[in-house]
Amino acid sequence: MKKLFIASNNGHKIEEIADILKRNSIEIELVCPKDYGCREEPVENGRTFAQNARIKAQFYYDLFHLPTIADDSGICIDYLGGNPGIHSARFLHGMNYDQKCDYVLELMKGVKDRGAQFVDCMCFIDKNGEISEYEGINEGQIAYEKAGHEGFGYDPIFLIPKFNQTEAELGAAYKNEYSHRAKALKKWIADAKERL
Ligand code: IMP
Repeated sequence: MKKLFIASNNGHKIEEIADILKRNSIEIELVCPKDYGCREEPVENGRTFAQNARIKAQFYYDLFHLPTIADDSGICIDYLGGNPGIHSARFLHGMNYDQKCDYVLELMKGVKDRGAQFVDCMCFIDKNGEISEYEGINEGQIAYEKAGHEGFGYDPIFLIPKFNQTEAELGAAYKNEYSHRAKALKKWIADAKERL
């Protein structure tokens, strides 16, 4: 079976990517840095999601020479001027996600403008070293309170207005069809699955 290197050790992301591929009948062996005992990590010093995805993809492609996908993602909150954006993982460093969600809710107490987007940029480097990029954006709102236990990160406060439920309530059945990550990966499937 062909291999696709996922440039991440985030188990939640890898699980979602695996499920999205399965839902789209893509049979492929996913491998990640941990599978190779690799502890080296790229310095994510890009100024955009796309730049950070490219940095991660190139770093691991240069190490393993396997077709590689890197996903750089985050939540952009209108009221915070698009922050934390590319800093989503490092934002409020030292807090767990339960605390981070509480902090955002407190910060936005009484705020009416609750628009937010999840953004995902994927960078794919194929077996010949050719680079392609795909973006997925999912529009939502910051909920007034946490709800749901599925997903990860900011999912418990990311409300999908159409369903009046958070991504953590809607779970994999929603996320792996319509999330920022699903949208970006489906573009990759349409464009590049033959280039493994
Ligand atoms: P990355 O690993 O640098 O792409 O950081 C992604 C960070 O953005 C995660 O650690 C979360 O804080 C946030 N994030 C990205 N995608 C999601 C998602 O699907 N649900 C919830 N939080 C997410």
